[in-house]
Amino acid sequence: MSSVPDLRCHATSAICCVAALLLAPGIAARAAEPARVVETYVLPGQQLPATPGATHELRLSLYAFRGSLWTQREIEPAVLDAARLIAQCGVALAGAELRLLEAPRRFHFYSTPVARELLQDLQVSKPAIFFVDDTLNRPAYDAEAIGRANAANRPELANTVWVAHGARDLPLALAHELAHVLSDSGEHSDEPGNLMRAETSPENTRLSAVQCRRLRERGQANGLLAPKP
Ligand SMILES: [Zn+2]
Repeated sequence: MSSVPDLRCHATSAICCVAALLLAPGIAARAAEPARVVETYVLPGQQLPATPGATHELRLSLYAFRGSLWTQREIEPAVLDAARLIAQCGVALAGAELRLLEAPRRFHFYSTPVARELLQDLQVSKPAIFFVDDTLNRPAYDAEAIGRANAANRPELANTVWVAHGARDLPLALAHELAHVLSDSGEHSDEPGNLMRAETSPENTRLSAVQCRRLRERGQANGLLAPKP
């Protein structure tokens, strides 16, 4: 992950900070360049993994930025592989749309305030996965999930996943973060081979019956999953 400048206010510049705060709303209003969707690609239904016996359906919204590091060729197969992992809980991927966003370059990098700003202007159906160039949050995670439970101070970000380019074991990382969001839980597992171990690894693919039940129940209760008709 790249290093980032320390953007925090220094104590000696308190007066400057106050002035900046007073001016900020006006500046923000004038300088606002809202992100907009310039292209939408619907993943063909025949590509979605068959999930015999599924009880629930998941529809995913995927977002990438024009001019960023991500390509559709990277995103699409990883999302389908992640869906195959979530399918073990009886959840079928019923649809996925990839939207390309035109947005100022600063939005290509994830940080909590910038992501909040993006979602204040953008209508997003959830759960949504954002493919960003990198994260500026510290600690810098390859991928970060925000459920409802950890969105109190950032309500716009509820039910979203943010993935940095170059994330290790991408399909597993996506499935892991989606499981956090659908279950609305930040819990990890120590069980060998479990998808929710804190470190992703190609061997860690399984979800237990208890994890799957919680994922389905909370996912449905939070409007992120629909019972299969
Ligand atoms: Zn995790």
